Amino acid sequence: MQKGDLLYEGKAKSVYRTENEGVVLMEFRDDITAFDGGKKDSLETKGCVNARVSASLFRLLMEHGIPTHFIELLQDRFMRVRALNMIPLEVIVRNVAAGSMSRNYPIAEGTPLNPPVIVIDYKDDSRHDPMLNDDLIIALKILTPEELTRVRDIALRVNSILMQFFSSLGITLVDFKLEFGKADGEIMLGDEISMDSMRLWDKRTGESLDKDVYRFSKGDVMEVYRRVAEKICAGEG
Ligand code: 5GP
Repeated sequence: MQKGDLLYEGKAKSVYRTENEGVVLMEFRDDITAFDGGKKDSLETKGCVNARVSASLFRLLMEHGIPTHFIELLQDRFMRVRALNMIPLEVIVRNVAAGSMSRNYPIAEGTPLNPPVIVIDYKDDSRHDPMLNDDLIIALKILTPEELTRVRDIALRVNSILMQFFSSLGITLVDFKLEFGKADGEIMLGDEISMDSMRLWDKRTGESLDKDVYRFSKGDVMEVYRRVAEKICAGEG
């Protein structure tokens, strides 16, 4: 597969053109950032670990009928994915109060949320990803009401699948962020699902198993990422 021009460079991933217009290459770099880019580092092998985890979780979701951009994991840190017109939303699903929810609202970290809470932010670093509501999403013409219903429905299905999967590994899926895009008029899951975009707690000890280890300097980030990746990818060839 030929790596073509750079199409997009985010904080931790780069996207390249390929010889096929409908397919792009997603590179998971070793960069890690937090607090709107205020904290930045490069952690050797992080890109490879997150690429493997994302591939594994996309495969799991596709086995359950979730439409995603994933095609295949290439060697190392590259993934072949369908080219999407990305929708500028961050769709966050929460099963337990944590992070910004407990910072911004009067709810203690660790409070279970049943039914899960969906929060949708406008993806725009220059505006610090402000929270949207349904009326704003429609007024800004980001999605039609029908598309918004579809996005919510996929997000909740993804949550059920991942919650069950992580529970079987002894891990609580506290919250996670999804991004969606469109190809041929169809809404599908894009971006990544990794320890950078989920909050995971060890069910028994409550230990953080995700980017909070980096955000709050709780320990050896790569040791934790590798340990979680082993569990997620166990059973794969
Ligand atoms: P919070 O709103 O508590 O900061 O984040 C909720 C969840 O969404 C966490 O699992 C967090 O990692 C994820 N998340 C929120 N915003 C972003 C973002 O801009 N990038 C990534 N990778 N994950 C995010």
